[in-house]
Amino acid sequence: MNSEHRLTLMAVHAHPDDETIGTGGTMARAVAEGRRVVLVTGTRGELGEIVVPEMDTPANHRRLGEIRAAELEAAMTELGVTEWENLGYRDSGMMGDEGNRDPRNYWQANLDEAIGRLVWFVRRVQPDVMTTYNDFGGYGHPDHIRTHLVGLGAFLRAGDPEAYPEQLADGLEPWAPAKLYEQAISRAQRDSMNERMAELGRRSFWLPPEDATPEQLAEHAAFMDRATVSDSAITTRVDIADYLDQKWAAIRRHVTQISLESPFMLLGLEGWREAWSTESYILRESRVPTSIPETDLFAGLA
Ligand SMILES: [Zn+2]
Repeated sequence: MNSEHRLTLMAVHAHPDDETIGTGGTMARAVAEGRRVVLVTGTRGELGEIVVPEMDTPANHRRLGEIRAAELEAAMTELGVTEWENLGYRDSGMMGDEGNRDPRNYWQANLDEAIGRLVWFVRRVQPDVMTTYNDFGGYGHPDHIRTHLVGLGAFLRAGDPEAYPEQLADGLEPWAPAKLYEQAISRAQRDSMNERMAELGRRSFWLPPEDATPEQLAEHAAFMDRATVSDSAITTRVDIADYLDQKWAAIRRHVTQISLESPFMLLGLEGWREAWSTESYILRESRVPTSIPETDLFAGLA
C-alpha cells in the first residue's frame, strides 16, 4: 500500500438502483468522510420493468440499459460518487423467465470468468472494503445470487498471484482487500418498517397476502427467513441519518425503476428517518482484527 492510498470502498451490486437502495447511505457517508468509493455493477438491468406508464414502451425497453446507465449516473452524482464500473453481463431476469436462459446473461456466465472480471477491478482499484449480498442474493434474484458468488470469489482470490495470472502480466498486482460485508436487513428493522406502513394504512410488502393459503404462508415464512436476518447476526450498523436526503434524491433518479408507490418509497423520507436511518451488514470475511459490533465498515483499518 503506497502513501497515496486512500481507504477505499468497493460496493458490488447486480443492477443499477440496487446500490442506492442497499448501500446508498453508506456510500454517501464514505465519500463525505474522505474515502474513495467505487461501484461495480454486474449488469445494465436491461430486463427491468418500467414503472412509469408513459415510458413503458417497446422502444424504451429496447434501450433500457442505456436509460438505466443515465439514471445511475444521476444517482451517483447525488451520492457524490464519481467512479462506477460494469462487469458487462446481460440482466438475467427472474428465475424461469425467457431472459433467464439467454447465454449472454450474468446467471449463465461462466463463474470463474465472471469472478476474473471482478478480480481485475479489485486489482486495479485496490479496495480495502467490499460489500456484496448474502447467498440468497437478498431475495432470490439470479443476478443477486451471482453477485454474492462473484463478490465472495473475487475477495478470496484477487490477492492470490496464482489466480488469473494473465492479469499480472498486464502490470496489475495481486490485492487482498481487508474486509468483505454482506448487506442485510434485520428482522427488527423489518418489523419497525411494517409497523410504520400499517400506521399509514399500507400493507407491507414483507407480509404475506391477506388471503394466503397455508402453503403460501409457509413459503412466505421460508422466504423471509432467508431475506432477513436475526438482529444478533448483524455485525455492523452504519448510521446514515445525515445522508438520507442524498439517498432519497438518488433513489428518485432511478426514474424508470422506482415510483413513489414502490415498497421502498411508501414510508416517505420522514418515514425513512424514523425507521430506516441505518444500513446493516454482516462482516463475512476479515483479514484485520476488529471488534464486533461495529458502526463503520472501515473499523480496524488505519
Ligand atoms: Zn437488482
